[in-house]
Amino acid sequence: MEIYCRYFAEHALQQKIKVVRISDERVLGDVRKQQFVTALRGRSFRSVRRHGKHLFADAGDAWLHLHFGMTGDLAYYRDADPRFGRVIFDFDNGAHLAFEDMRLFGVVDLTSDPDVFIKEHHLGPDPLEMTLREFRRLLAPRRGAIKSLLMSQDVIAGIGNLYADETLFQTSIHPRRAVDALSDDEIREIFTGMRRILREVIKRKTDYESYPPRYLIHHREEGARCPRCGGTIKRSVVFGRTTYFCGKHQR
Ligand SMILES: [Zn+2]
Repeated sequence: MEIYCRYFAEHALQQKIKVVRISDERVLGDVRKQQFVTALRGRSFRSVRRHGKHLFADAGDAWLHLHFGMTGDLAYYRDADPRFGRVIFDFDNGAHLAFEDMRLFGVVDLTSDPDVFIKEHHLGPDPLEMTLREFRRLLAPRRGAIKSLLMSQDVIAGIGNLYADETLFQTSIHPRRAVDALSDDEIREIFTGMRRILREVIKRKTDYESYPPRYLIHHREEGARCPRCGGTIKRSVVFGRTTYFCGKHQR
């Protein structure tokens, strides 16, 4: 998500929006098409910020809000529209910005104030802007499996399924371990591991192929050999999501 935010900032700021095109209204959240178009047409995006999987762009009286879901993406281009461009901004310099979303899990709408939005939607803090102390405080009242906690938007914003698995794999913790049974050291390791992985992913622009070979992401297959200990990779469902972990070194 940090990448989308930088991409937006690099390409789409300070350009007048000439036309707002919505090719599929199903992507719109709590806003009607006409209201959305009227609020943004003729404006320009002044700044952009991110909170977990949510991106907010300041357009003067309203903020554009994008939630990327599982298949959301941004494209800034001058040639043909991307196939799954659901909302497209035509700028007066001839370039376009599209919010692409193949499977429509994402949401596009407006908000008057991102801070209020974050509060109202009970979004937890962003993992890269959190201290260890805050992380401990978030986990303290919680029960249940650590993986579920890492993926709850109201606890931490923006850790996806792949990175929750990767964090637990790299810190040798079983995804079903109860949060209240984790030691202080284990919580610290999860916190630092999660941030290290997110930074690595940002650095490599989410290009999976370029991630270090010992990452679980290259070995997400039942029965595969663990690149760390030679154990066997297992598959399970936690928090409704397919989960991979090593049956040997994750305790
Ligand atoms: Zn292992």
